[in-house]
Formats: sequence, structure tokens, C-alpha cells
Amino acid sequence: MTEPVADPAEAAADGTAAWRVTVDRGACLGSGICAALAPGLFALDGERSRPLRGTTEPDETVLDAADSCPAAAITVAEGTEVVGPRP
Ligand code: SF4
Repeated sequence: MTEPVADPAEAAADGTAAWRVTVDRGACLGSGICAALAPGLFALDGERSRPLRGTTEPDETVLDAADSCPAAAITVAEGTEVVGPRP
């Protein structure tokens, strides 16, 4: 199940579009790759990852984490557009 973690309206204070980060905990394999790549944004909670924040400013590291997830469990969205994982 995809876990919404925060209010999507939680945009960056400077007005830039925030990225919404979700982890499908049902799909997560608990590899810890995301937490290793972006420890400020992901943490293992038991055997599954969860985002530490619901939104983040656009950041290549977040996309790298989504791209690297072996379960494709991480989704990064800007509004209604999915920006990660990248094709
Ligand atoms: S990289 Fe993917 S499978 Fe591994 S802990 Fe993070 S969300 Fe789970």
C-alpha cells in the first residue's frame, strides 16, 4: 500500500514546487538502498522504508533513490506528474 506521508500542499517556502515522496511499503523489500543514498529522506522502519518527510525540494538524490529501488517502491511526484523513478 502506498503510504501518503504528508500534506501535498506542503510546498517549499520560497514558492518552488515541492516534490511529494511516497514509498509503497507493500512492495518495499527492505534493501535499505534509499536510506543509504538519501538518509535525510528515507529510513528503515522495521523491515520497510518510509519517507521521513512527505515533500522535498527538487533534488537529484531523491531521483537517484527512486531509480535505484529494486522494487520500484518509491514514487516522486511534482503535482500530478510523476518525475521518479525515471524511465
Ligand atoms: S530502496 Fe526500495 S526496496 Fe530498498 S528499502 Fe528503499 S523503498 Fe524499500
